Amino acid sequence: MKVTDHIKNSQGKTLFSFEIVPPVKGQNIQTLYDNIEPLMEFKPPFIDVTTSREEYVYINKGPGLLERKVTRMRPGTVGICASIKHKFDVDTIPHVLCGGFTREETEYVLVDCQYLGIDNVMALRGDAMKHEQSFTPMEGGNNFALDLVDQISELNKGNYLHENIDKNFSSDFCVGVAGYPEKHFESPSFNSDLQRLKEKVDAGADYVVTQMFFDNKKYFDFVEAAKTIGINVPIIPGIKPVAVQRHLTILPKIFRLDMPEDLVKAMEGCIDNRAVREVGIEWAIQQSKELMEAGVPLVHYYSMGKSSNIEAIAKEVF
Ligand code: FAD
Repeated sequence: MKVTDHIKNSQGKTLFSFEIVPPVKGQNIQTLYDNIEPLMEFKPPFIDVTTSREEYVYINKGPGLLERKVTRMRPGTVGICASIKHKFDVDTIPHVLCGGFTREETEYVLVDCQYLGIDNVMALRGDAMKHEQSFTPMEGGNNFALDLVDQISELNKGNYLHENIDKNFSSDFCVGVAGYPEKHFESPSFNSDLQRLKEKVDAGADYVVTQMFFDNKKYFDFVEAAKTIGINVPIIPGIKPVAVQRHLTILPKIFRLDMPEDLVKAMEGCIDNRAVREVGIEWAIQQSKELMEAGVPLVHYYSMGKSSNIEAIAKEVF
């Protein structure tokens, strides 16, 4: 079912959803299942599965010789979506990236999704590869998430990349896109980033999921500003519970976000990561409760591995 229909059917009740990351190549999928299982009690209407950018690995070819190869260390997004969908009887949402894919390859991914009965896709640009100064699309690939939304919208109208095929069926994907309550780091200003978001919605995006934020005011202001410029699709808040001390430095660096002083102080006062995890759970519970009181349609959690903290939050909130 489409995310927008899940929201309509919930009749104002806030829903719980979460996002998982595929295992590293070579690891068993069972660990992923074991982390999903306890969260099914909270009846997520869907689970997102991320896609990782490709990266360079160096293969030892003998004394002093290293061969550089491009590989995707966490492949299998669409396969995992299919396996989870059938194992847990839940909708799954693959993240489809511009980065690392030609438009042709993207079409194949979308056709696979169609055959698997996947109704929603999240359209994202992806970040630059680790060695790149800035994002570079593949030759023949999409440049911005907007171009990807365009491609999916065209496919929904039955317009494949090449016209010389017999068609008797069109896709009907519900499309999610990313939004940034604290602005995307490459954008020159909050307002210009918001205009870019509106372009994605005008091109056919049906809903928005936000980047993580730790101060709800940032989300409320963002939703207000989005409404003012005519963005009228659901804007789903994305919440990440902090779990390790390192998050104090890496989350602001990677996601260019501000952490509230109270959270910083609480984390700095922790003697170990166990204590940080507790702080993260408590902070996310308070954030979630306030968001629910404000009537958000859904709270989406970034799980990134172990799910016990998300379970603890969901037990208190849903
Ligand atoms: P875009 O919407 O294309 O925006 C990128 C930048 O370009 C912004 O600064 C925007 O303002 C600007 N811009 C947009 N259009 C134009 C234009 N026409 N001209 C000039 N500038 C323009 N990354 C992954 O690799 N895998 C994932 O699975 C993944 N999942 C995510 C899920 C969520 C909910 C979120 C919020 C992010 C996720 N990301 C993921 C990260 C995302 O790929 C990065 O934040 C990326 O840098 C931007 O992606 P986007 O889709 O927002 O890009």
